[in-house]
Amino acid sequence: MKLKLRSFLLLLMLLIFSASHAQKAYKTKNVVIILIDGYRWEELFKGADFNLLNNKKFNTNDSLQRIKKYWSEDLNERRKKLMPFTWNYIAAHGQLYGNREWGNEVSVRNPYWISYPGRAEVLSGFVDDAINSNSYPNNPNPNLLEFLNKKNGFKNKVATFACWRATGRCLNPEKYGLMVNVPWQDIKSDHLTETERLANEMQHYVPHIFGDDERLDANVYALAKAYILAHHPKVTYIDFGDTDEYAHDGKYDKYLDDIYNLDSMIANLWEMMKKDPFYKDNTSFFIVPDHGRGIGDEWTDHGSSTPHSNETWFMVLGPDTKPLGEMKAKEQIFQTQYASTIAALLGFDYKLTAYATGEAIGTVMNK
Ligand SMILES: [Zn+2]
Repeated sequence: MKLKLRSFLLLLMLLIFSASHAQKAYKTKNVVIILIDGYRWEELFKGADFNLLNNKKFNTNDSLQRIKKYWSEDLNERRKKLMPFTWNYIAAHGQLYGNREWGNEVSVRNPYWISYPGRAEVLSGFVDDAINSNSYPNNPNPNLLEFLNKKNGFKNKVATFACWRATGRCLNPEKYGLMVNVPWQDIKSDHLTETERLANEMQHYVPHIFGDDERLDANVYALAKAYILAHHPKVTYIDFGDTDEYAHDGKYDKYLDDIYNLDSMIANLWEMMKKDPFYKDNTSFFIVPDHGRGIGDEWTDHGSSTPHSNETWFMVLGPDTKPLGEMKAKEQIFQTQYASTIAALLGFDYKLTAYATGEAIGTVMNK
């Protein structure tokens, strides 16, 4: 009798143990992390801004054509015109956080509200106050990508394609043995596909319109897409930046055109990966900026002296994320929480005891 009771208890414990483990097993096996430098929550949720779109100072030419392309009196129509895939597809199948009109707030946690510290915060999942400028040298801190690259089955299956040289310093690939492609590096492989060759080649034929440290989003996209097709990375980090450059230049029309194009590139990647048996039904997209921007005429700037440029957003699309669309609950999320959330989707606990890593965001995993 005693023995039977013991075996019963043992079986019960085993059942409870496996049930609690089953809860953690998400469908996500691969992730694509997309960063859009300095894209504002205002345009994401409200579409083109009427005053900026109609201000000659911020629009180079063809303003009538841009108004036709991006303007509608109706908010839902307007944001769909600017980001059709986001509002027709992601809003129907994924989640979008950061519309402050509902009190759903996503914020930068580092005190600087600029690009390198923003990327460091997103990728490491904590704030290091010492990282205080865009010219900061190699980041000495651990990050999510090197954490994942050490996991079983992930070695050399983690790849980065970045618009900006500083993203390379932020990830410190020399220290961590990560595959990081920055301007103006080519994809290296013993057997390059024709698509990879073309993507490599094209980046050298376009003018350096943002200087020698930054290449165009279209080239970053081509390199990432060609690499995904050929090598099937499990974790792909794609780092875009034209939005921030055009905003600093005060070109609102170009800023809008770039986000319209990025929305289409994201759609294209999603559709391509959905058809690929390696990625089908097991891939999550996590899309974020690195900081916000000012409002009114200050939309061109960001940084701690520009109010509101700590206000951001993020969106998620994947097999473990309930289709709740635009999140309307009053809450405060920080970008220190992305790394642990992405790790959790892949079944890992990203908690670095030496650092104040943010908590995973439960609603992303239907909690
Ligand atoms: Zn930035």
